[in-house]
Amino acid sequence: RGRPQQTIMTTEHIRNFCIIAHIDHGKSTLADRFLELTRTVEPRQMRAQLLDAMDLERERGITIKLTPVRMEYAPGSRESGVGGRGADRGDAKAASPTPNTQHPTPNTLNLVDTPGHVDFSYEVSRSLTAVEGAILLVDATQGIQAQTLANLELARAAQLVIIPVVNKIDVPGADVEGTHRELAALLGVPETDVLRVSAKTGAGVPELLDALIHRIPPPRDSSAEPFRGLIFDSIFEAYRGVIVYVRVVSGTLAKQASITFAGSGADATALEVGTLRPQPVPQEVLTAGEIGYVATGVRESTRARVGDTLLRKADRGTVTPVPGYQKPQPNVYVGIYPDSNTSFPELREALERLQLSDASLTAEPEQSPALGQGYRCGFLGLLHVDIVRERLRREFSAETTLTVPSVAYTVALRGRVGAAPNVRVIRSAADFPDPSAIVEIREPWVEVRIVARTVDVGAVYQLLSQRGGSPPHTENLGSHHLALVSELPLREVIADFHDTLKAVTSGYGSFSTRPLGDRPVDLLKVTMLVNHEPVEALSLLVPAAAAEAEGRRVVEKLKNVIPRHLFTIPLQAAVGGKILARETVP
Ligand code: GDP
Ligand code: MG
Repeated sequence: RGRPQQTIMTTEHIRNFCIIAHIDHGKSTLADRFLELTRTVEPRQMRAQLLDAMDLERERGITIKLTPVRMEYAPGSRESGVGGRGADRGDAKAASPTPNTQHPTPNTLNLVDTPGHVDFSYEVSRSLTAVEGAILLVDATQGIQAQTLANLELARAAQLVIIPVVNKIDVPGADVEGTHRELAALLGVPETDVLRVSAKTGAGVPELLDALIHRIPPPRDSSAEPFRGLIFDSIFEAYRGVIVYVRVVSGTLAKQASITFAGSGADATALEVGTLRPQPVPQEVLTAGEIGYVATGVRESTRARVGDTLLRKADRGTVTPVPGYQKPQPNVYVGIYPDSNTSFPELREALERLQLSDASLTAEPEQSPALGQGYRCGFLGLLHVDIVRERLRREFSAETTLTVPSVAYTVALRGRVGAAPNVRVIRSAADFPDPSAIVEIREPWVEVRIVARTVDVGAVYQLLSQRGGSPPHTENLGSHHLALVSELPLREVIADFHDTLKAVTSGYGSFSTRPLGDRPVDLLKVTMLVNHEPVEALSLLVPAAAAEAEGRRVVEKLKNVIPRHLFTIPLQAAVGGKILARETVP
C-alpha cells in the first residue's frame, strides 16, 4: 500500500520506429524536430543534428552510428500551437509546448536514427529489427535515390509498416508534386498516404507524429514470457564495462538481475538498466517492447557481441535466444599496422573496443615483412576504412599505416597428383601463391543498381562498360529517374566507382550493391622493383588485361615521390621475370 509500485505492463502506448532515407535526405534533422516537439531535449540544449553525437559525424555531416532515443508524446498536444505549419525554429511558442504530463497516458516513442551511406547499412539492418515501423524520407530536391530503394527493401523484408514522407518542401523549386507521386507509385499506395514535411522549419512534423502513432502498431505484449533482450548495439565504458543497447523482445528485466549472454556464455549482473533520451536515464525495470540499455560490467569486449541475446542466468539452456543478425560480409580488406609511436598491443585493444561499436569491422592478425605485426581488417567500403582509421586516431590515439585495399580472391591450388585442389583465400599481394601451382582464381562480383536522372543515362552506360560491367537493364522510376542494373567485379566498385559516378552525373547518381558470388579472373601479381630489389609492400594484384597500365601508373607515381639521388635508381614493374614498365629516378 502507499507508493504506486506497479509499472504499466502493457505495450499499447509504445511505438518503435526508425527513419530510413538516402544520405542527406534529412533524417537527423527530422529527428531534431521530434526531440523538440516532444520536449525530450530542452530548447537551450538543442543543436542541429543532435543525435550525431560523435565529433566525426558532426564535422563530416554524416551519421555513422545508429542512435536510439525515447520520447514521450501525447497526440493532440500540438493543438496548443507547437511547431505548427512553417513555425520558425526561433519562435518562442514553438519552444514551449504544453507539457505532456497533462495527458494521462502519453505515447512512448522510441526512435532509432540511422546512417544513410551504403558503407553503414549494417547499422540500418540492425535498427530495423528493433522496431515495428519506418519513416521512409525522400528529399524533394533529389527524388528517389539508390539508398531509398535499398532501405525500402530492407524495411519490407523486416515486415515493417512504412510511412512515406516527402521532405524539404520549404526549398524553392523543389519538385514536391513529382516526388510525392513517385513515392506513392514506388510503394504502391494511394497518394493520400504520403505525407509532406519540412524537417528544417517543422512544417508537417506534428501531423507526421500523429500519423506514426496511428499507423505503426504497438509491439507485441509479451511481458509475461521469460526475459529476452536482442542486443543491437554496444559501447564500452571505463567504469561499467560493456553497455549493451537492447530491444526487449519478451519479459522484463530489473536492475541487479543476474544475466547471461546466450551466445558467448558470459555471465554478468545488470548493474543498471535504463532508457536513452538520448542521454542514459536509469529505470527500475525494462519491459517487453521497450528499447533501452543494460550496463553489464563485462570487461572483455569479445564476450558481448551485437546480435547476441541477453537472458536471465536462470533461464540459460531453457529459453531459446532470438535469431541473431547475419554477420555482414566485408567487401574490402586493408592491412592496418601500428605506426612508430603506437604498439601492437595498443592497436589490438583499440580494434577490439572499436569492434564493440562497429560490428561490421573484422580483424585478423597478420605479419608483413615491411610493416611488422598488424591486422588484416575487413570493411564494408572505402568510406568505412576512412572512418575507422580516423576513429582509431581520435578515440584511441592509435596512429596507423594502411595497405592498399583489396577484395578477397579465392585461389584453387594444385594438390598432390590425384588429389583435389586446395582452396585458399588471399586478401593482399603478399599472400599470392607460386603461379605455377594455381589452377584457378575467382573474385567477388556484385549486382550494382544505379539510380540516375534520365539525362545522365548515357554517361552511366559508358561508366559501366569502362568498368567491365554487363550491359545494364533499366527500370523506370517516374518521369525523371531511372534505375540501371548491371553486374560488375567488386574490385571495380571499391576503387573509385562512387566518386566517378558522382562526377559523371553532376552529383545526382547513386548506387547500391548486392553480392553475386565469385567468378573466375585472370589475376597477376605485379611486383615493384626499386634499384632491382623487389619491395613487397608495393606489390599489387591486377587482372592480366590491366597489368601493364597499372604497372606504368605506379612506377610513374614512384618516380615523383622518390627524391633525387647522387646516382640513378631504376624503378620497374614486373610480373614474374618480365618487366612491364620502367622509369628512372635521376
Ligand atoms: P541525413 O543524412 O539524412 O541525416 O540528413 P541531415 O539531417 O544531416 O540533413 C542533410 C542536410 O539537409 C542538412 O544540411 C540539413 O540542414 C538539410 N535539411 C534537412 N531537412 C531539410 C528541410 O526540410 N529543408 C531544408 N531546406 N533543408 C533541410
Ligand atoms: Mg544523419
